Amino acid sequence: AVRRRDVGGLLRDRLPREVHDLLQTAGELSERLGYSAYVVGGFVRDLLLGIDNLDVDFVVEGDGIAFARALAKERAGRVKVHERFGTAVVLLPDGFKVDVATARTEYYEYPTALPTVEQSSIKKDLYRRDFTINTLAVRLNPRAFGQLIDFYGGQRDLKERLIRVLHSLSFVEDPTRVFRAIRFELRFDFHLSKETLALIKGAVKMELFHRLSGQRLLDELRYLFSERTPRHAVRRLADLDLLRFIHPTLTWSNRLDRRLSEVEAALEWYKLSCLDRHISGWLVYAMALTEAMPDQAVHEMLERFPFTEAERGAITAARFLTQPVCRALSRRAPLRPSDTVALLAGLADETLVFLLAKNASASAKRHLSLYLTTYRDVKPALTGKSLQALGFRPGPLYRTILERLTTARLDGDVKTEAEERELVKTFSDQGRGRARD
Ligand code: ATP
Repeated sequence: AVRRRDVGGLLRDRLPREVHDLLQTAGELSERLGYSAYVVGGFVRDLLLGIDNLDVDFVVEGDGIAFARALAKERAGRVKVHERFGTAVVLLPDGFKVDVATARTEYYEYPTALPTVEQSSIKKDLYRRDFTINTLAVRLNPRAFGQLIDFYGGQRDLKERLIRVLHSLSFVEDPTRVFRAIRFELRFDFHLSKETLALIKGAVKMELFHRLSGQRLLDELRYLFSERTPRHAVRRLADLDLLRFIHPTLTWSNRLDRRLSEVEAALEWYKLSCLDRHISGWLVYAMALTEAMPDQAVHEMLERFPFTEAERGAITAARFLTQPVCRALSRRAPLRPSDTVALLAGLADETLVFLLAKNASASAKRHLSLYLTTYRDVKPALTGKSLQALGFRPGPLYRTILERLTTARLDGDVKTEAEERELVKTFSDQGRGRARD
């Protein structure tokens, strides 16, 4: 039977004031419209786990789109509607975003032995979800605000730290859930329930994953490798014999494991050293995974999975430029900073971090890290404007001059703006000559 519990206090204590207000407004609105509204899924799961999560997902028994429009109006927000799915996204003026769905009942009508004490559409909607811990909902309508609804034993499984599917055809319906199961298992340090583990083994035996589109599998893998411990994820995928569905030639080895640790350390360093930059860590792990695969296999993977052009370029560069670049960086003759920049400019940060992870030579590591943290940000003090003030006519020459100044700065040949001006004077005759033409 459905289990209820009041989590109004938790909502009040754990949520930022604005979010709590938003939930109340949503409840009042849905009451006015004659609907029932719920906040569901990961938001509720994390609320009970004491983890911050402000991804608000509403499910509405009623017209979800009308509800979303009303909410947007009430809060001076905007709404993006997907008529076909009965879903909408409400964008609030402060940048906050909420998803709204209409409770759907037309899905997966399998016979079940579950009691039908309260056969509501929210119940059926939640039955379509992946794991019990994601099926919790909280009522928002004023009279029942804060009432936790648990149809499928989500609270028990949260307490017992278990990932459990709702029924035995879950992975047949959607094999990506296998990867989601591993993701949640590692993220929360939970375990697969015994039946769920058996169903995964069945799914592997039936090779259900071949029929997944490259897009869906890539999406799930990207999420999985964006979690805290991709190295453990790879280990787990290997244990469950799932690596072969990424590519048949992909297997676990000590060497791969070592490389994954090195990537982990390099990314850790990057995040601390390049604070204001963003990196797609998952892509660096993808580079490590493909490292030992034959060219043909990598080619097939790039065909199967819809990577962006930039991602494709980064993976290919990691594969083919690693050797020559590292050799050049490890040369005995001293490299000037501008040489390092010439070698590395144009490579994606993901490729550079992979090089950093891979490279044993201390001098190459030093060049790479200096490039990432310092060299690439070096700019001359003089700008296009200053050149104009010095009498240069705007044109392609500016770029040449500014590049020469950057090189001089990098290599320490000039240190101040005054020294830059001196250097520019040496180009002056030519420049002024042109300006007078
Ligand atoms: P995260 O914290 O990673 O965002 P989440 O639980 O919010 O975790 P989402 O991928 O954002 O996960 O999905 C939102 C909800 O939609 C989940 O709580 C889950 O119940 C449901 N869901 C997502 N993907 C599936 C799927 N493949 N099958 C069934 N339900 C799914």
